[in-house]
Amino acid sequence: MSSPSVFSHRAVALKPSLTLAISARAQALKEAGRDICSLSAGEPDFDTPEFIVDATVKALRDGITRYGPAAGDPQLREAIARKLSSENRVPTDAAQVLVTNGGKQAIYNLFQVLLNPGDQVLIPSPYWLSYPEMARLAGAEPVVLPSSAATGFQLDLEALDAVLTPRSRLLVLNTPSNPTGRVMQRAELEALAAWLRRHPDLLVMCDEIYEFLLAEGETHHSLAALAPDLAERIFIVNGFAKGWAMTGWRLGYLAGRADVIKAAAALQSQSTSNVCSFAQRGALAALEGSRSCVSAMAASYTERRQQMIAGLQAIDGLTLVPPRGAFYAFPQLPDDITESVEFCRLALEEEGLALVPGEPFGDRRCVRLSCAVARETIADGLERLQRLLDRLRG
Ligand code: PLP
Repeated sequence: MSSPSVFSHRAVALKPSLTLAISARAQALKEAGRDICSLSAGEPDFDTPEFIVDATVKALRDGITRYGPAAGDPQLREAIARKLSSENRVPTDAAQVLVTNGGKQAIYNLFQVLLNPGDQVLIPSPYWLSYPEMARLAGAEPVVLPSSAATGFQLDLEALDAVLTPRSRLLVLNTPSNPTGRVMQRAELEALAAWLRRHPDLLVMCDEIYEFLLAEGETHHSLAALAPDLAERIFIVNGFAKGWAMTGWRLGYLAGRADVIKAAAALQSQSTSNVCSFAQRGALAALEGSRSCVSAMAASYTERRQQMIAGLQAIDGLTLVPPRGAFYAFPQLPDDITESVEFCRLALEEEGLALVPGEPFGDRRCVRLSCAVARETIADGLERLQRLLDRLRG
């Protein structure tokens, strides 16, 4: 920034996205004619299912083009509440649902209405990179709970105890996880619920945006379903981006107790107003339509996840906690390579391989690879990775 004096403290404190910097560099190299293999994608590689597009086009033709209620289309709020109640077993009514511009705005709004300056947000690492930044934007302090590949990225309740202070306000959970692909198991969530009962002032945000993308044999559990007595303290973030391949539509939601949803809706009404009116009709069609498209996409990620796992396990020196959900793998680099940012820079410059460094996810020894690319791209990327590691390790 050439003239910092014009910027607010918030703008100055914001960290530019390392992920975007990598994509921009990869794009520039591609445009310059380099052969680039990118495993850095953070989104599905499918088009949005046609019946959702059709419903949206129809809505446009029907004139659903005006302002709507800031909290969301009432029919969509109802449908989301029904989905949460029946599929996630979290009894919810429409007044407890806010339709947002992607899961991202759900998190942003929630942090803005729950957090005061000085509050602490407990974030188990590795974490999705926007959580700490959004906590800071709300004036709060992100407190990272370390975990590592060596311990399977397990949530450590003793570590939670150790970081707890009177200022701890909100715990962030993300299952299935971006970047590790880890899926929290029922027993682990039950243990956490027991722990939460001993800490009645702590609120919880559960980011469940990858709920449908699970390896065979895995089940997604909502904490609020396993611990209905804690439902008043639990807020669910979810959206249509990953399950229905709708990243560009910007459609997500926040669910939880009605007074908090009302406050988040008030914030939304003074900032962005309603989510695109006709796009909400597409989301409604998604919820009301057959889930076969979601299952087919999930099955395709499962195959590619397996390919990625097998390939990474065959590379000497990497430590991999095999992902069980989402569409990423997050291996730890060999012990003698400790800086993932520098490693990713070399991967791009020397091998034309775009990876995402673990640093912004809270683990500088790991790198994130996406399985949401063609099988040939995965195979090509793994070869390039192997070549680079062979060279670096002589
Ligand atoms: N939560 C996690 C864990 C994510 O990975 C993402 C997107 O990458 C989001 C939330 C936000 O998704 P949306 O595109 O719906 O804003």
